[in-house]
Amino acid sequence: MKYIFGPVKSRRLGISLGIDLIPYKTCSFDCIYCEVGKTTLKIKERQSFFKLEEIKQEIEEFLKNYRGKLDYITLAGSGEPTLNKNLGEIIDFLKENYPYKVALITNSSLLYKEDVLKDIEKVDIIVPSLDTLTPSIYFKLNQPDPELSLDLILEGLYNIKNLKAKIFLETLFVKGYNDTQEEIQKFKEFILNYQPDEWQLNTVVRFPAYKFAKPVSYYFLKFVKDFVGYKKTKIYYYPNKETQKINLDVEKYILETAKRRPLDLKELLSLFDEKQVYYAVNKLKTLKKIEVTDNLQIVTTEKR
Ligand code: SF4
Repeated sequence: MKYIFGPVKSRRLGISLGIDLIPYKTCSFDCIYCEVGKTTLKIKERQSFFKLEEIKQEIEEFLKNYRGKLDYITLAGSGEPTLNKNLGEIIDFLKENYPYKVALITNSSLLYKEDVLKDIEKVDIIVPSLDTLTPSIYFKLNQPDPELSLDLILEGLYNIKNLKAKIFLETLFVKGYNDTQEEIQKFKEFILNYQPDEWQLNTVVRFPAYKFAKPVSYYFLKFVKDFVGYKKTKIYYYPNKETQKINLDVEKYILETAKRRPLDLKELLSLFDEKQVYYAVNKLKTLKKIEVTDNLQIVTTEKR
């Protein structure tokens, strides 16, 4: 099959049949963490890459014989699906002929465009990405077409709030890029204002397009979730082998220092391993021995 992949059991969308509408690694971004590989054609203009009838025919043939369960038909794949000019016709075809829900996974870069919004108005779930709220980090991390500014991404994200689709916003954290205190604070403000139906936290898994893209720890994601405090947040990273060798020195240092003065997270991260820091902070918070303030200072809860 040329366009269909799966069905696969996906953590986010249950049993999902994928439709890939884009030639291999044709994308408006070249994210350093991309699991598919480096972008070979970086474009922002929409095109009809394939014959529409051929795509419809493949879908028809597959679904005619398929007897299994299907939660979603997902438009995703090896590039940015909204770059396909025939996206609207394919969505209409799916909605008019089949009972399945349709999901769209997108990097959000073209959601500012009227024609894209028109095309996706019947979609049931949109999974857009937003990895950073800082333009300089955005250009390094997502390596977009230079004309696709972060402001356009944000404009697009607010546009889709007017559609009927549920929005499962995804943020992927990369060590040393968007895992700063400033970024976490910006996300808190943004997420509490934007209110997605779900905020999905993720990090680098499998093999990234650029070897230097490294994952953050599960403990960091847990910290972000708790700090932002948005109820509809889900961590989509379950490390199999991320075991924590407990370093009691980190906890001791936090407790003793916080008794004397507020402690800055940056200071801790310069002294100890990142996993150890976030593990200890999460644990001490759960035990109610410390609190993390809005400006990311660690303070003791013990009365003097
Ligand atoms: S937007 Fe998606 S397909 Fe494009 S480079 Fe980034 S991760 Fe890869």
